[in-house]
Amino acid sequence: MTDLHGRSAIVTGGARGIGAAIARTLVKSGVGVVVADILDDTGEATAESLGPTALFRHLDVTDDDQWRRVLDDAEANFGPLAVLVNNAGILDFGSVESESPAMFRHVVDVNLFGAWLGMHLAAPRLRANGDGVIVNISSTAGLMGYSGIAGYVASKWGLRGLTKAAAIELGPAGVRVCSVHPGPIHTPMTVGFDASIAAGQPLPRFGEPEEVASMVGFIVTEATFSTGSEFIIDGGATAGMSLTDLS
Ligand code: NAD
Repeated sequence: MTDLHGRSAIVTGGARGIGAAIARTLVKSGVGVVVADILDDTGEATAESLGPTALFRHLDVTDDDQWRRVLDDAEANFGPLAVLVNNAGILDFGSVESESPAMFRHVVDVNLFGAWLGMHLAAPRLRANGDGVIVNISSTAGLMGYSGIAGYVASKWGLRGLTKAAAIELGPAGVRVCSVHPGPIHTPMTVGFDASIAAGQPLPRFGEPEEVASMVGFIVTEATFSTGSEFIIDGGATAGMSLTDLS
């Protein structure tokens, strides 16, 4: 078990959904957590509910000045940075043909460039601190294709690849980098999604944010020999296809 007392963590998109659950799990492990998001009121409320070892800071992950301020604040309040969770993400519906160029760019900007920027600016600090973990929240859309969400799929595959590149570069400095690949999870992002999306999975239900958070907690505190690794939490959706009905 990694001791995280006296250290800081940043969870992007931490105001709600999976990010808020991750922040809650990390606080329990003893690390001071900066909940970073563009949703100020929700983020403040989430941080307050987590107690004195959490605070909220406004962060648009595409803005490098804001990133620098959040990194400085995390270390000033809670100690040397130990954990970065790149969780902020947006979903846009649009096919290769129908998605507008502006929206494709925006999705890639937040989901991929934003995570890269966080790693780019956090990595030197983690390297200087001699250890640390970066967890990038990708998706099953980073393991397989889906129709109708072209920019999202591209961004999540990109994040999976970026995770491996960073793991190779940062491993010798004692810094681990892993990706997490959730299937459908009950959050504000999936409000209105039909339950049938999960019906064909071996575990035919949506997951809960706490289940993803528990995996992230494991990666941070227990998975000390894992880096560049993909952690899948999808009810078996990517395990394959059932042919039972055809036989
Ligand atoms: P959500 O919409 O509830 O939360 C996403 C958070 O990211 C929000 O608080 C939002 O304000 C924040 N955010 C958006 N743009 C931002 C920006 N530019 N800068 C900072 N914060 C920003 O969604 P969620 O389901 O909790 O998603 C969390 C992550 O999990 C996302 O990366 C998403 O792609 C991924 N994911 C979700 C599911 C699912 O089914 N819910 C499945 C696979 C992967």
